[in-house]
Amino acid sequence: MREIISASRIHSDLVRNVEEISGEHLLACNQCGKCSAGCPVASVMDMLPSQVIRMAQLGMEDVLESNTIWICASCLTCVTRCPKGVNLPRMMEALREVSLRSGVTKLDLDSLPPELVRELPQLAIVGGFRKYMK
Ligand code: SF4
Ligand code: SF4
Repeated sequence: MREIISASRIHSDLVRNVEEISGEHLLACNQCGKCSAGCPVASVMDMLPSQVIRMAQLGMEDVLESNTIWICASCLTCVTRCPKGVNLPRMMEALREVSLRSGVTKLDLDSLPPELVRELPQLAIVGGFRKYMK
């Protein structure tokens, strides 16, 4: 995919919002890939964590379509590995927040089977509400 990089994209609303919400500086990431190499759930992500940051750095709105931002478990493994001190889970949280603010809902309560709701620990349900709903 060929992308045109421009100043307006690097200073786009997406970049500003993610940096504001996360308190992180997107351009601090130098794409070394250590976060992706150590992420325990990377195998089920459609995009590696370092790729998510790259897209966010470039203001590419498509990053909000990635399942990676929802799968990230905030386990902090990447934070311990990052040589630049980037707090990637905070950025993932910021991207989820931007996505939810745009009206996306990732958890439809009515679609959950009642037997599953009965079996799930309450903590998991409340955690799910917090992560996947506005
Ligand atoms: S480990 Fe840090 S610097 Fe390296 S790609 Fe991941 S976030 Fe960027
Ligand atoms: S915090 Fe998220 S991106 Fe980082 S290693 Fe854990 S699951 Fe992967």
